Amino acid sequence: MSATTQQRPAAGPDAEEFLTQLRTFVGQQATPVRYAQDAVNPAMIRHFVEAMGDENPVYTDETAARSTGRSGIVAPPPMLSSWLMVGYKAHTAAAEHGAPDSPMTRLLNLLGDAGYVGVVATNDEQEYVRELRIGDRLKMTAVIEDVSPRKVTGLGAGHFITTLRTYTDADDQVVARQRFRILRFDPTVTKSSGQPAAADPGLRHRPFVMRDNQFWFDAARERRLVIQTCSDCGQLRHPPGPSCPQCGSFAWHETAAAGRGTVHSYVTSHHPKAPGYDYPLTVLLVDLEEGTRLVADYSGDPETVRVGLPVEVDWLDYGGDVTLPRFRNREEQS
Ligand SMILES: [Zn+2]
Repeated sequence: MSATTQQRPAAGPDAEEFLTQLRTFVGQQATPVRYAQDAVNPAMIRHFVEAMGDENPVYTDETAARSTGRSGIVAPPPMLSSWLMVGYKAHTAAAEHGAPDSPMTRLLNLLGDAGYVGVVATNDEQEYVRELRIGDRLKMTAVIEDVSPRKVTGLGAGHFITTLRTYTDADDQVVARQRFRILRFDPTVTKSSGQPAAADPGLRHRPFVMRDNQFWFDAARERRLVIQTCSDCGQLRHPPGPSCPQCGSFAWHETAAAGRGTVHSYVTSHHPKAPGYDYPLTVLLVDLEEGTRLVADYSGDPETVRVGLPVEVDWLDYGGDVTLPRFRNREEQS
């Protein structure tokens, strides 16, 4: 498939301009200042150490903690980010209504629109300035510290975004710092090629085959496009069904289609990207010469599709036992 892509060029002036645009976010506050919902408290510490299996008594036993020279029990350092978590309600609200507008949201949207749709956390470096004591009220400020040039990784090509999170107490004294790095990547660009890889059709969703439509998929596997035909009144129908919508007869036979038609309508999809498909993905509603309509992929350049375009069948093997029709531009063949 010779689909064009929306990807940013890997090098050259456009790539540099894009990086410059990304780097305007460096130094900006990533998200609004976050305040801990609860002060550092024994209950949350106890749940954490029980879950982690950490039996150090300085986290749970006041006397034991004092015997080490501390003023009382302290929180395990790895709990740092949990004091600032927003909770289930805020998470579900963000999932429903989208993340609130912030420089981080805008930066991620910019990358997502350029095809960098994958995300993975790559580094989490934490520096503890002092231990957290019962009653500490934390505040966290996050600043976008760096956006890397485009790098091709094993996951795909992308940009690393480093955020510096600074944790302070009620007196605005720094208690900890956290450098958090994510990779926002385009999974279609592999390390081996540096170019978008053609998607493997074997990863696509499989069609739902049942008794009423099995003949159609069986024929497709043999690269034959057929149309179900009523044996009583001669009406053609697609998609397949058990009885004739015109006369109600259950008797039917197959009619071979010529495989030619015209585009009745189409849609070109960019996101979200399902595995196994090349994007942009153009899906056609084809008026077959015989009179029925069929939904199928377009194998040509999405730029060339239009309503009324003459097309002809062009089969695609999904691997295994599935072959489905797609359609090519008939004007380009003649
Ligand atoms: Zn009929």
